[in-house]
Amino acid sequence: MEYKPNEIEPKWQKFWEENNSYQAEDFSKKPKKYILIEFPYLSGEGLHVGHCRSYAALDAVARKKRMEGYNVLYPIGWDAFGLPAENYAIKTGIHPRLTTEKNIANYKRQLKSLGLSFDWLREVNTTDPQYYKWTQWIFLKLFEKGLAYQAEIPVNWCPACKIGLANEEVVGGACERCGAQVEKKVLKQWMLKITAYADRLIDDLGKVNYLEKIKAQQINWIGKSYGTEIDFPISVDQQNQRKSAVISVFTTRADTIFGVTAVVLAPEHPLVRELITEENREQVEKYIEEAKKKSDFERGQLEKEKTGVFTGSYCINPANDEKIPIWVGDYVIAAYGGGAVMVVPAHDYRDYDFAKKYGLEIREVISGGDILEEAFVDYGTLINSGQFNGLSSEEAIEKITAWLEKKREGRKTVQYKLRDWVFSRQHYWGEPIPIIHCPRCGVVPVPEKDLPVELPYVEKYQPTGTGESPLAVISEWVDIKCPKCAGPAKRETDTMPNWAGSNWYYMRYCDPENDKAISDPKKLKYWLPVDWYNGGMEHTTLHLLYSRFIYKFLYDIKVAPTAEPYQRRTSHGIVLAEDGRKMSKSFGNVINPDEIVKNFGADTLRIYEMFMGPFDQAIAWNTQGVKGVYRFLEKVWKLALGSSDNKKSSPEIQRALHKLNKKIDEDLEATKFNTAVAAFMEFINLCQEKKEKVGRDVIEKMLILLSPFAPHLTEELWQTIGGKKSVFFEKWPKYDPKLIKAETITLIVQVNGKVRDKIEAQADISEETAKKLAISQKKVQNWLSGKEVKKIVFVPNKLINIVI
Ligand SMILES: [Zn+2]
Ligand SMILES: [Zn+2]
Repeated sequence: MEYKPNEIEPKWQKFWEENNSYQAEDFSKKPKKYILIEFPYLSGEGLHVGHCRSYAALDAVARKKRMEGYNVLYPIGWDAFGLPAENYAIKTGIHPRLTTEKNIANYKRQLKSLGLSFDWLREVNTTDPQYYKWTQWIFLKLFEKGLAYQAEIPVNWCPACKIGLANEEVVGGACERCGAQVEKKVLKQWMLKITAYADRLIDDLGKVNYLEKIKAQQINWIGKSYGTEIDFPISVDQQNQRKSAVISVFTTRADTIFGVTAVVLAPEHPLVRELITEENREQVEKYIEEAKKKSDFERGQLEKEKTGVFTGSYCINPANDEKIPIWVGDYVIAAYGGGAVMVVPAHDYRDYDFAKKYGLEIREVISGGDILEEAFVDYGTLINSGQFNGLSSEEAIEKITAWLEKKREGRKTVQYKLRDWVFSRQHYWGEPIPIIHCPRCGVVPVPEKDLPVELPYVEKYQPTGTGESPLAVISEWVDIKCPKCAGPAKRETDTMPNWAGSNWYYMRYCDPENDKAISDPKKLKYWLPVDWYNGGMEHTTLHLLYSRFIYKFLYDIKVAPTAEPYQRRTSHGIVLAEDGRKMSKSFGNVINPDEIVKNFGADTLRIYEMFMGPFDQAIAWNTQGVKGVYRFLEKVWKLALGSSDNKKSSPEIQRALHKLNKKIDEDLEATKFNTAVAAFMEFINLCQEKKEKVGRDVIEKMLILLSPFAPHLTEELWQTIGGKKSVFFEKWPKYDPKLIKAETITLIVQVNGKVRDKIEAQADISEETAKKLAISQKKVQNWLSGKEVKKIVFVPNKLINIVI
């Protein structure tokens, strides 16, 4: 019998489906295990082999946990709102709903062909009105608590997609989706106040088990820093009179205040207009116009040279009452640190270059460097700083801040890099924001009983180009009675961003049909938190942070049962093309999982993707590697079918099996999927060498151990060699630690350098014991024949040489 994956795989997929083999049971007495992978964001191209890497690996974990007696929830669904379907509709005129349906059918077929053990009865789809009803409900709750608000803000504007973009959707100054250069546009936007949760989002990372690099990225993204806000009063005239207006700057280095030789404002700073003097007007205004054309990203790039222009006005350094010039520079961003910075050329690299370029004074106030050569940015001892001379930087930061606080010219503050989340998009294919604008009552939330606010059918998807969504032109949908005063009002036409539906989908899996709540609170309590969540590293600061924020909010309003949604978070690296580049249609290097399944079978694809390299690292595809895995499975096939009945295996093989069992247990927990597979390959090679010593006992256990990796092949073999039920009903084997420890070795015994005997001995046998054992052997005794032993050479675990 030959190994033919295409014959056995569909058969067992059907069998598992008909037997509902992977259904999770609410409130089961068994301990629960909630294992989650990021549900796919649909595209017309179908499943990527990168998806398979994560899904197959966690599927192995889920299968093993079931066999260990856990009630496992391993669900799947579709993240289906968003631009791909809308852009496709713009191109072809095919409604996003139809495209989405088609895409789901395709993904489903592909996932099923991989034999993944998802609980298909809990499938969710973010574009289903019964699902997004609850996405909208969450928005209403946020609005109710003041955490969703509108603001006029300059947004990143993609002129090609004709929509506003979040900062994180702008990559290198270009639109993440289409590559067009991003511009600035002021729009009224819905915002979510994620900043209100900044501290908890940092602190509660202590409660969860995430990869260290994931924690570090989130902390860095939130960017909490302690510092001092310092007021620089504007100087009115040559006599240094002060105006009531002040420029407030944020700094983490209050110890350098005596070294400030300029203040730079963002072009958007509200005071800029009145500070420009007549003789500088033309030059400054030209500079500001140029700055408008640049994105925040471009302006904020660290490697970029700082530029600026003098306004003609001055302010006063509150520390030493010196008059210092006020400049405008586009590297200062309005939204960060109040849109103003102090320039300390002696102690900041970029300020140093800026001062050199524009002829500003470079005044050393921290000793320890050579400021004629370059800026000295480390902490040191204060000089040229009045009464603070001689203090260390650490002490000076405290004392100078306290001194300014006393003078009411400064204060201790905390600053975050994290901004509130722009939650509006001006496109069609998203959840409508459930808000009504009434000329009399203002902003009115849609009453809960009227949810969901369903997306109306649209003939034309073309964005209006004015900044409004295509929904704005459907008057029968937009015009509505105000729920408060019954007067004429209009619906909000913005829709929610991509991340809205994925914020809480894992809560819906707990109770996907519920029409009274997100999920039954009892079911949430049973299943949450998610025990193990695996996803892409690129989602660490977006989806993972957003969903933690929304979950914490739901916890505060007593909907979510725990403080954190995910107990453990791991990440997989991306799968690159065989040429080492990213897989892309335009490079023609995309590997289609369908092809691999067709040519080698799903089991080969699954194992190959686990075996290809360390799980958290990016790895290039390798077709030879795929073939190698296929040959490995062929060996397993032959070995199992060639083994004889009722034969007990040799102790050596049994020991190797127990070792393998231990290795798989440990490696799957530690996401070392590649080394687990490697250990299996070694074991099979050993069995092939010692074929006559491999009995049915070992074959059965081996199939159970392999079943999470190669479910189809093992199910077929299991039932062929006489298994009554599915292999997945078997208990996961336990290894015997004693058996692994009590390993024996073959010790070579030499007399005067010539091999005279081989003896079985315990591994790690001591020299003393080895000597006694060797000398007591009958064969050795003959060679020694009573002569005096002069010397013993002992090589641990290998040989003992007796010199006579
Ligand atoms: Zn674009
Ligand atoms: Zn009204």
